[in-house]
Parts: sequence; C-alpha cells; structure tokens
Amino acid sequence: MKFSDLNLSNPLIRALKDKKYEKPTPIQSKVIPTILNNRDVIAAAQTGTGKTAAFVLPILSKLSDPKDNDKGRKMKALILTPTRELAAQIRESIDAYSKYLDIRSTAVYGGARIHNQQLKLKKGVDILVATPGRLLDLYRQKSVSFINIDFFVLDEADQMLDMGFINDIKTIMKLLPERRQNLMFTATFSDLFRSLVKEVANKPIEISVTSDNETGANIDHYVHPVDKARKAELLLNLIENENFSQALIFTKTKHGADRLQKRLEKLKITSKAIHGNKTQNNRMKALEAFKKNKIRMLVATDVAARGLDIKNMEQVINFDVPTVARDYVHRIGRTGRAGKKGKAITLVSADEFRLLQDIEKLLKQKIKRVEIPGFEPEQPLPVALNLPKKKHGKKGIFRKPKNNSNSNRSRSRNRSRSRRR
Ligand code: AMP
Repeated sequence: MKFSDLNLSNPLIRALKDKKYEKPTPIQSKVIPTILNNRDVIAAAQTGTGKTAAFVLPILSKLSDPKDNDKGRKMKALILTPTRELAAQIRESIDAYSKYLDIRSTAVYGGARIHNQQLKLKKGVDILVATPGRLLDLYRQKSVSFINIDFFVLDEADQMLDMGFINDIKTIMKLLPERRQNLMFTATFSDLFRSLVKEVANKPIEISVTSDNETGANIDHYVHPVDKARKAELLLNLIENENFSQALIFTKTKHGADRLQKRLEKLKITSKAIHGNKTQNNRMKALEAFKKNKIRMLVATDVAARGLDIKNMEQVINFDVPTVARDYVHRIGRTGRAGKKGKAITLVSADEFRLLQDIEKLLKQKIKRVEIPGFEPEQPLPVALNLPKKKHGKKGIFRKPKNNSNSNRSRSRNRSRSRRR
C-alpha cells in the first residue's frame, strides 16, 4: 500500500515525501482509512509503530478539507497524552506533517509557564495537544473552550490510567461536545482501558498491530546476575569492555537515576538523567543531546522515558528490573527497531528474581543468564521455574488477564509506583 492510496490530501502527501516516508506502517494502513470514514477507533499500538502519524494525518486531512468552511482557528481537535515530552513530540509531528497546510497547533503541559500557553491559546489554535492536569487548569481559568471539538484523541491511554489520570480524563470528557470522533491508543488492551472505552467511544473499530519489538523478536535479551551493591561497578565494566557507543539506562527511582548519572560523569562518561524532578527544559535538553549523540548515556525512570521517540538504540540497559513486567516491554521497545538487531541487558540481583520471573512469563521466554567473570554474585539467583507452554497464535502481552483480582492488584501497585516517580 502507498500513502497515495489512502485518500489523504495532496499537501500531506508532499510533507510525507519530505519526511522520506516510503509507505504507511501497518497501523497507519489500518487506522487512517477508519478515521477518514468517520468511525471511532481503539488501537493497541506501541510507540515506534508510527501511531502518531496514524491519527495526526487523517485529522489534518479532515481539518483541511475545502468542504469544511468553518475557518477561524476554532479548536477542533484535542489530543491528550500523559507526559510533557510526548506532548511536545506530538506537536512537532503535527508541525512537520502540516507544513503545507494552514493549520495551527500548540502543546500545553505542566512544568512550563501557564501564561505563555494562555497567550498562544488566545491567538487561536486548530489542534491542541495537552497533558490532563494542565488542560484542566487552563479550562478553570477560562483560557480554553471545548465547544468546537470534533476529534478527541487519547494517546498512551494505559499509561495515563497507570499514572492515575482517570478522574481528570473523565472530567475532561464531560466537557466535550457529545458528537465527536474518539480515537484511543494504548499499548495494551487492559481491563481498565476497556471500561474507559465503554464510557467514551461509540461503536469503535478495534485495531491492533504487533511489531517485532513488542515481542522482542529481533532483540537479544541477556540477564547478568550480580549482587545489588556491585551493579554500578558492573555497568561501568560493561560500558567500557563492550565499548557501547550509546545506551539508554533505566533505573527504578529518581534518586537512583541521579546517583548513577553522577558516577558516570565522574568517570568522564558523558550522560544526563531524565525523571519527574527535572524541569521540562532540562528534560528536553537532555533528550536532544542524546539524540544528537552529544552524550553517551541517558539514564531514565520509566515514566520519564515512556513513549519517547528514541530510535534504533543498539542497547537498552535495565539497571533495575522494572517492578511491573509490562514496563520491560516498553523499555526495550527502543532497541531492535526497523529490522535491526538490538540488545536488552538486565542487571538482576537476588531480591529481583520474582520480577524477572514476571517478565519471562510475559515474554513467554526464559532470558539467557550470563555471569560476568569477577562479578559472580555471592547471593545467587534462584533457578528459573518452568514457564507455561505457548498457546498457538496468542501473543502473551495482548491477552486479557484471566484473573481480575491479580490485575487489580498490579494496577494499584502501578498507581502508587507512578506517584512515587
Ligand atoms: P511513533 O510510533 O508515532 O512514535 O513513530 C515512531 C517513528 O516512526 C517516528 O520517528 C516517525 O517519524 C516515524 N514514522 C512514522 N511513520 C512512518 C512511516 N510511514 N515511514 C517511516 N517512518 C515513519
């Protein structure tokens, strides 16, 4: 399939040519015609699948339709997303795709001055990208009106639910016109997501795509067993001996990220940390420096890094094992993209064994354990238990959890974890 088969307007096709996109990704081929057909959509797609363009392109196409005479910067599309970085990233995509169109967009999020955002809104926008908390602040200050909204997009819905945004989302939904098109994107169809869909969407078309990095098929996974106290030392050893040009490193806590980053700096390994305590400006600068190869290591917590468009990392290192198995999949989604081989390295101490087992169950594969000479743990990892047999044709991470009480437990664990970050 080609972009020209999708009924998108010519200025969009030109912008896509400039971006050097050759053809639509699988999610784009499925989602774009459905949105152009005026249907609500719920889609399971991870970051890296091209999902942003999948909703931005048809919205732009419809907003620029000459039959739509209703000009005048009425805010017609609202895109909600969990983090500031994602909001800024989506806004950049809108800019790139609409370069030959007369469309104005802006992004509003916490951590930046509300006054500047109010000024931009006053000038009028066609598309608003927002994080829920700041959007409600702006609404309460009468800086934003929803009466013309035709398109409501929830991006990374499961992350928003994990972060405890459910009430904000429901409040916002009640303020929107009833006749609108709802487009909901999530990494996994969780029970909570499905219950939200029931309240929001109108006979939605359900779309799900799997990419190689969702199952980690083109990623080599390694576990290095190590005592907790020696993790930093082992990491430095790996960086030097394996000569990593760049790596994305995940830690469990903000303090852990800072501590590790300082250690790296001391050894003249250029690095930055991103997490919830850093200012927006700081986080953006760190990300830019990393993307432009000005620093070697980016140390991040899950919430700060989720959804970030960091392409083709050769390796992702889990300094701490994620406390929720699904985060492992999100973390490693940054490597092994676009047909390239990637490496996911996890440093595991004995107290993290259960978390490792959860990940292996989710991936339905045992991860290769490699002890690094000189770092063999004094407290060894227990032997891995046998995994349940694979069921033909089912992708583990997209299956609905069978046991609701378990999934509720992990959800409340997620929420309290997000608040900590
Ligand atoms: P996303 O999943 O929306 O975060 O997109 C991941 C990356 O894929 C972004 O850097 C996009 O610019 C890029 N991308 C999106 N659609 C295409 C396409 N059809 N061809 C090539 N790259 C694309």
